Amino acid sequence: MTAITTRKWTANPLSTYKTLKDELSAHDSVILRHNRIVIPEVLQKQVVKLAHASHQGVVKTKQLICEKVWFPGIDKMVEDHLKGCLPCQASVNTPKTT
Ligand SMILES: [Zn+2]
Repeated sequence: MTAITTRKWTANPLSTYKTLKDELSAHDSVILRHNRIVIPEVLQKQVVKLAHASHQGVVKTKQLICEKVWFPGIDKMVEDHLKGCLPCQASVNTPKTT
């Protein structure tokens, strides 16, 4: 947030955001990338979980989440979350009864 408002990109952990600095903007306490909300690290898992609440597949979950929000590694986190989702794994692994 400070880096965006001051335009001073010195901290190393922010390098992912630094490459996107022209796309990022700060509004009050929210950071936007274009019109999508940049989710802070502590909330990223929760956002992915919420987007997957109806247990849609990878493509639909990504579509839903990418419409509104963004954070570094969002695609991978969605994929990892779905891989670790028990209800989804159970339905994929159920043998067909036909
Ligand atoms: Zn699921």
